[in-house]
Amino acid sequence: MTSRRDFLRGTLAGTGAVAAAAVAPRAEARPMPERSPDAVGLLFDGTLCIGCKACVSACKEVNDLPLDYNSPVDALWDTPLDTTARTFNVIKVYKDGDLSQKDSVENGYAFTKASCYHCVDPSCVSACPVSAMTKDKVTGIVEYDANICIGCRYCVAACPFGIPKYDYDSPTGAIGKCELCRHRTEDGQYAACAEVCPTGATLFGKVGDLLEEARRRVALEPGGTTVYPRGDITNGPDQSWEGPVANYQQHIYGEHEGGGTQVLHIGAIPHQKLGLPALPEYSYASRSEGLQHGLYSGLVLPLALFGAMTWAARRNSRHDDEEGGEK
Ligand code: SF4
Ligand code: SF4
Ligand code: SF4
Repeated sequence: MTSRRDFLRGTLAGTGAVAAAAVAPRAEARPMPERSPDAVGLLFDGTLCIGCKACVSACKEVNDLPLDYNSPVDALWDTPLDTTARTFNVIKVYKDGDLSQKDSVENGYAFTKASCYHCVDPSCVSACPVSAMTKDKVTGIVEYDANICIGCRYCVAACPFGIPKYDYDSPTGAIGKCELCRHRTEDGQYAACAEVCPTGATLFGKVGDLLEEARRRVALEPGGTTVYPRGDITNGPDQSWEGPVANYQQHIYGEHEGGGTQVLHIGAIPHQKLGLPALPEYSYASRSEGLQHGLYSGLVLPLALFGAMTWAARRNSRHDDEEGGEK
């Protein structure tokens, strides 16, 4: 007698083999989009960050977000350890040994910023079944619409950076994440975290300008001095200051990772030690959508499933007949 489990197992194995054979020539990655020339973003320079968390407070203020904490013991302070649905931006600390030297891998400490990276080809947008997550074609800002969201949390699972979070305390349910202060940029202002940053560690501007500035900095000779812009590098006003040059890692995180991002990171500590994931240069969305389109183009998957079920049913009924005959 063939159990239901055996039947399903046989069917799935058959479907997988048939679909794989049928789809192999079609399952190519779809092309990845380019950054829009008017895409805006942030450049975070860990060597300039002093850990003051003015950016965290400003983010809360302009987005009208409540205080966050990890346990009732620290409820007196706004102390989120990571982004939450009510905290769109956090400053995290790298620590090693006796913490005696800033921006040193050994016996040192350093700061890093976590907020949405506004990916060029975002997985959250690709995964959202109702287009509550969208990417603006001009600014490239990855936007969220709570009125459309059905609370499925596919975006939470899809983001390679673990950024969007679901608000379980909200009566209606909603996702929370940085939208690059788009409500302010519409009014001619810019990202609050960059506006208040006293050192320019968080800098706002067009991604092209930010990339150029990042390349300039990582090419500087350590130990010298240079001029660091503050605020909005593209539209000013000029608030630059002169300061020392640290020993930069020769890598701009986000230039290529995951198909590229609009929030870039540079610093003196290897990015993976700061918790940034090592990602391939392609976007996951381009691969998963390419596979989906390959499976469904020409009804390949449904036909493969139908064929495999027919084959498994015939095989199992033959098997049952033979077993019955032996009795
Ligand atoms: S405001 Fe600037 S210096 Fe202060 S924690 Fe934020 S990024 Fe660092
Ligand atoms: S970092 Fe995550 S939430 Fe932000 S755009 Fe990329 S995939 Fe979406
Ligand atoms: S751009 Fe705005 S929402 Fe995003 S982290 Fe900065 S202050 Fe917060």
